[in-house]
Amino acid sequence: MTAFTDTHTHLDLPIFSEDVGPVVENAARASVTKMVCVGTSIPSTKRCIELSDAFPDKIIPTAGIHPNYCEGISKREMVKLHELAALSPVKAVGETGLDFHHKYNERTVQEKFFRFHIELALELGKPLIVHGRKADERILEILDSYPKPISGIRHCFDSSWQIAREYIERGFLIAFGGLVTKEGHKKLKKAARSVPEQNLLLETDCPYISPAGVSEKRNEPAFLVHVAKALAELRGLPTREVAEITSKNAALLGF
Ligand SMILES: [Zn+2]
Repeated sequence: MTAFTDTHTHLDLPIFSEDVGPVVENAARASVTKMVCVGTSIPSTKRCIELSDAFPDKIIPTAGIHPNYCEGISKREMVKLHELAALSPVKAVGETGLDFHHKYNERTVQEKFFRFHIELALELGKPLIVHGRKADERILEILDSYPKPISGIRHCFDSSWQIAREYIERGFLIAFGGLVTKEGHKKLKKAARSVPEQNLLLETDCPYISPAGVSEKRNEPAFLVHVAKALAELRGLPTREVAEITSKNAALLGF
């Protein structure tokens, strides 16, 4: 049976609070059987864990503080994050990383928190979920100050094959989302064709980035199939095979 894993969702957000049950059912009907719910703050991480209790074996929580929300986080909250990340249902650390596009938070604060998450992931032996906007060079530099390989995901990949290869060399998997369904994005599409099978993952990043061909503004895990189809087409594979490859890779990460 074809089964997809959506490795990056924000089902914890208020935009899903009224109908998260039906959203999970829609996903199941579209063969999206597993959804990783990615923490972006302490309350968000707690909600991801709550959802995994409500939908066991379907929703998988992670623990993290997003680089755009890390300013003003106290020592006590960092201890709390450590506690949450160590819980056994929590399968990854993040999302973390660097965002030099939005510039909501100071670089130095973002970097301090990125390092905190890397060290947490290494200590707990859990994969790291990395967000990067106009910051891949600096992210790679920081990763290089730790022992390799770091098991991790460069989520919502938006760059070239050259950059993807740098992450892969450091032990990372590359998660492709709605961007591969859209017109243009030539460099990204070359990366989507070139990444080795064992480094490929799928994600929606819902509620953001609805794929091409979907009229709903709010993206949801059920629409992952559009991403899978686009990737299958780019790689000249049946969609079923993309599902098998990417779900197996996700399972190897512990999802
Ligand atoms: Zn995210």
